[in-house]
This record gives sequence, structure tokens and C-alpha cells, in this order.
Amino acid sequence: MSLKLHDLGQIMQETTRRGVGSRRWQHPAYVSFMPPCNNACPAGENIQGWLALAQSGEYEAAWRLLTQENPLPATHGRACYHPCETACNRGELDEPVAVHAVERFLGDMAVEKGWVVACSPPSGKKILVVGAGPAGIACAYHLARKGHAVEIRDASEEPGGMMAHGIPAYRLARETLRAELSRVLAMPGVTLRSNTRVRDVAQAMAEGGFDAAFVAVGASVANHLDVPVEDGHRLLNAIDLLHDVSSGARPLLGRVVAVIGGGNVPWMPPARPGGWVRARRCWCSAMTPPIWKPCQQKRRKPAWKARKSAGSVLRSISAQMG
Ligand code: SF4
Repeated sequence: MSLKLHDLGQIMQETTRRGVGSRRWQHPAYVSFMPPCNNACPAGENIQGWLALAQSGEYEAAWRLLTQENPLPATHGRACYHPCETACNRGELDEPVAVHAVERFLGDMAVEKGWVVACSPPSGKKILVVGAGPAGIACAYHLARKGHAVEIRDASEEPGGMMAHGIPAYRLARETLRAELSRVLAMPGVTLRSNTRVRDVAQAMAEGGFDAAFVAVGASVANHLDVPVEDGHRLLNAIDLLHDVSSGARPLLGRVVAVIGGGNVPWMPPARPGGWVRARRCWCSAMTPPIWKPCQQKRRKPAWKARKSAGSVLRSISAQMG
């Protein structure tokens, strides 16, 4: 039985013209869209691009493509929550692509080999950046690549902001952070003034002859939580606790500790036996039970295990707050 064109369905009929023989006049077109990992990456990296280069062994080219967006790949390869992997649709098949592990590998290789980024010739513009945390460092990096002179002023002794004070060293090795920060601070035209608090941006700009200012003071002050404490019991917020620990202090908290919140930060101290919280009992509460829900699974599992092996009891008081 011979098939006629009108038997081949509506699509064929609509996309086929009859001449001497039938021929297609519409074709599928390959359209390049951003994959879900790019969309999820807060740094907006061209992940598929540098992964492809890394896969073919062109590590320096991969690092150069990666650092067009992100100046600190070794840092992000350790500290980032890698939402790129959560969004990766390969995860629906077996496992997401290990993006942050490759990012870390490339970042470490760049530190080891001393790769530096190229900068444009001086533009004659001078920019004031207030704060040497992740935003200030990233801003200085991108401005320096464009050839602008940048002066970073920071109230702390060391640059890094919350990367240095809010992330424990076991998650982000200080030598790695310092190596990547040094690379940015050594770029042409970049200077850092530590222990310099800017109280009046307009005045600082006028005095320094700056063309523009970028204020990147971050969010290093904790929200106040009105919890009544009696009999001299201590109430600490996570930011101050992390700051103390990163500067070498070991807070004495007592034998029983209540942790309010179920995110990643509260789960860090109980994760380190013999480290920060030497309490025999640790009570956790969260806005939404179960208490561990807001915490990434890969962090809470070792936290729970480590706490148990340290002989502590981790219990939920599952407070329904607010
Ligand atoms: S791990 Fe790297 S690529 Fe993934 S979201 Fe974080 S910064 Fe972006």
C-alpha cells in the first residue's frame, strides 16, 4: 500500500512542500540556552564552558574562563553550597556533576602554578571599595581587570570579611583563602588599607579623589533575638561565636547548650567533637520541625554522627517559634 502525503500527519503536511518531490522547508534549529547549573550559580559562571575545557585537559584555559566571573574558585570550591549541583538535571538520572570539586581542583592548581589574570591598560579612574569581604574583593578584581585603580579600605586587620571570620578553618583552609586574596590584592592598581574604617563615604571620596565608590560592608552583625536568660546563662549569636572561634578563642558554654535554628550554621559547632562546643547535651530548636530540615543533608549527617561519637546527646525541642 503506498502512503500519500496527507496520510503522514499534520506536522509533515505543514512543513512539507510539494514540487518535483516532497522536500522539508522547516528544520529543527539548535538553540543554545543556559543550563540549570549556570542559572543556579550565584557567581553566574559559564560552568558548561569551563567543565568542557577541564574535561579535555585544558586546565589553564578552564581556569581562565571560570575566573572571568569568579575571582576565588578555590574558595568557592570549598565554601559554596554549590546550588549548581542541586539544579543539575543529571541528578535525576544518577548523580549531579561534581561541579564544585572541579572548581576547587582548578582553583588549587592556579594557586600552585601561580596563574594570574590579564588586566587592561590603566584607565585613569580611581575607585574606593569599602570592605574587603567577598563582595569588595570581587568588585576590586573586576575593576582591576578593566584597568581601574582600586583602593580597598577595611576595618579589620585581615581581608576576607565573613570568609575569614564566618567560615571555620576546617571548611575553608586559611592558607587557601589567603593565597586567592593575595592574587587579587597583587593585581595592578589594587591597594588595601586595613584597620581603616570608613565612616563618611562622601568625605572619603572627596579627600581621596575617587571617581566612584562601592560599599560592600556585608552583613556581619547578627539579628537580635529576644530570649530571656536567667541566672547568668550566656546567650551568644552564631556570628560572634564563629568570629571568636576563627580568631582562636574557645568559648566556654557549659554542659547543656540550646541551639536555636536548624540551618547550616547551628550544625557546625556540634559537628566538631573536641572542638568548639564541649557540652554534654545539645538541644536544638528550629522554626520548622524537623529541626534538621533547613540544613544541607551532607552537613547534618556528619554532624549527627560526630556528636554521637563524642558522647553528647543531641535532642530536639522542636520549638514552634513565631
Ligand atoms: S560551587 Fe561554584 S559553580 Fe557551583 S554554585 Fe558555587 S560558585 Fe557557582
